[in-house]
Amino acid sequence: MKKMAFNKRSLTTLVRSWANVIGAEAPLQSDQENVPEIEELVKAKTESGKVDRMLIYNPDAIGEWFYEKYKDRFAAVEKHTDIKIQYLTANPPKTPVCFGTMFTGASPEVHGIQKYVKPVITIDSLFDSWARSGLKVAMVAVANQSIPKIFAGRDIDYYLMPYDKQVVEKALELIKEDKYDVIEVYNQEYDDVMHLSHPESFAAKLAAKHYVESFDKLMNAVDEHWQGHDTFVAFSTDHGTHRMLGLGPGMHGSDIPKDRNIVHFYGVKPKANGR
Ligand SMILES: [Zn+2]
Repeated sequence: MKKMAFNKRSLTTLVRSWANVIGAEAPLQSDQENVPEIEELVKAKTESGKVDRMLIYNPDAIGEWFYEKYKDRFAAVEKHTDIKIQYLTANPPKTPVCFGTMFTGASPEVHGIQKYVKPVITIDSLFDSWARSGLKVAMVAVANQSIPKIFAGRDIDYYLMPYDKQVVEKALELIKEDKYDVIEVYNQEYDDVMHLSHPESFAAKLAAKHYVESFDKLMNAVDEHWQGHDTFVAFSTDHGTHRMLGLGPGMHGSDIPKDRNIVHFYGVKPKANGR
């Protein structure tokens, strides 16, 4: 097997572009750099040069290596998206550390979470800047997990559900209701299952399949119910995984390419009548 190198682009660059494409202010302590490909994509696929809706799907723990090895299983994700961007996620690659960075654009030293703990992040985040830009934002996540805990108390609506299945059902309902500008959806089954087995176990692969199926359902709902909007969509994971000592149980949190290299998928679903 070819030796893996670390990806170069920092995950801190993402949030500025997620703010820019919908006309929101970038979080105050975010990286000054953006992701030009995202903004070029939105300009190319919309009449106004901006989107007015966002559907962000955050599946936990799908490393770039897993995608590369099982690419054919991600066909539905690629079908609904236009571009792929590789990132080096935050270090240590633990869930609250990485999602903390994804939604603040700040390094762990700045947002304050540097290990597996889930205090409320007090610096400015995209959830704050989306809301103060006048957008109606829904977070749909598994209760007590990292994202709802570290971004608690924001001026957004929280739908905290027992597990992934109910999260997806609620998100589908909200898409159909057509009243939120931004919906962030978090699923976690793969991360849970791979810790109990390993990243390529039968159960883990099934969990990854559930992510892809859920994303497909969400995208089909956007296609059906948000035709009057330009919608930015994302399949955006937090970190990868590896096996302890090569053959042991699944884990993550090490400063190695398997854990830190991730790939995101982004797309724009333009207004149906526009073009
Ligand atoms: Zn995670």
